[in-house]
Amino acid sequence: MANSSPEFELIKRHFTRPAANAVLGVGDDCALVDVTNGMDLAVSTDTMVSGTHFFPDVNPENLGHKALAVNLSDMAAMGAMPYWAMLALTLPNVDHAWLAAFAKGFFDLAEEFNVSLVGGDTTRGPLSLTVTIMGEVPAGAALRRSGAKAGNDIWVSGYLGDAALAVAHRKGLIRLDEADVPETLMRLYEPIPRVQLGQALRGLATAAIDISDGLLADLGHICRLSGVGATVEIERVPVSAIAAKHVDTDAGRTAVVSGGDDYELCFTAHPNSRESIDDLQNMLGVPLRRIGQVRRGKGVSLLGPDGKAVKVDGRGYDHFSSP
Ligand code: ADP
Ligand code: MG
Repeated sequence: MANSSPEFELIKRHFTRPAANAVLGVGDDCALVDVTNGMDLAVSTDTMVSGTHFFPDVNPENLGHKALAVNLSDMAAMGAMPYWAMLALTLPNVDHAWLAAFAKGFFDLAEEFNVSLVGGDTTRGPLSLTVTIMGEVPAGAALRRSGAKAGNDIWVSGYLGDAALAVAHRKGLIRLDEADVPETLMRLYEPIPRVQLGQALRGLATAAIDISDGLLADLGHICRLSGVGATVEIERVPVSAIAAKHVDTDAGRTAVVSGGDDYELCFTAHPNSRESIDDLQNMLGVPLRRIGQVRRGKGVSLLGPDGKAVKVDGRGYDHFSSP
């Protein structure tokens, strides 16, 4: 009777769709995929836990989008082309309205990026979601964190800080104008993974990372793995019109340089590549801003308009740091 169990029904009803990219999708013991010759398989996984990564009352459609978006963002950061996703769901109870909304958010984004859901796992327990994403990148061409060289420019895409401002507002740490709340919440709940940009940066960027834990922390990872230091000029860091209203406050500045959840790309490139990168921003319609320079040494220094070091609270989110 296994095939009529509630678990099987749930999977069939909400998570079984034609898997255009796969040899075999949901339903068997394994999915089968065909990996193109000459390509490396790029694989990444991310877990989201209720209360840690999202507010427990989050709209399930937003959650479905975000669970996939954060994984697509990892593909973007490697310059990889995403094809296949796996979804491991732990649910406190079976709520079909909730599942339908979650699946809508997930599949709407999956379709936008031609990603097939090829399998997963479904268990009962405190709400938690794990998505594994797989894709391809030409062998040897992936954008790693370890390639930054002294003298390289440091770039970021889009605008930083809006998602963290939304969180700070919800926690009562700052006060956004009522009219600005919906847009910042969109940035928090529906980040746009920079997948095309990541692929376009192959051959241009010397190192790349997606900003999930905050600019300073994530650029710090590039520095550590590349054996270099970085200098960032705070007034060059791109902010939205909403965040611009808050950059003069400590909490606002912290959101911009240390706030997580933006899912923009931070990358380094040789100064010779400036023109090509400027062309990319027009081609892709994604703002790309130069924010500083890679240097010898270590660590990320943040400079104010007067050229003096700026201190900010917080250095990015770390699940295991003590309070
Ligand atoms: P097994 O017990 O062999 O691991 P399951 O009963 O867990 O198989 O899963 C049956 C099929 O449904 C498998 O192909 C699995 O990948 C897929 N599956 C299970 N849960 C999900 C989910 N949440 N989303 C997508 N596919 C799923
Ligand atoms: Mg199983």
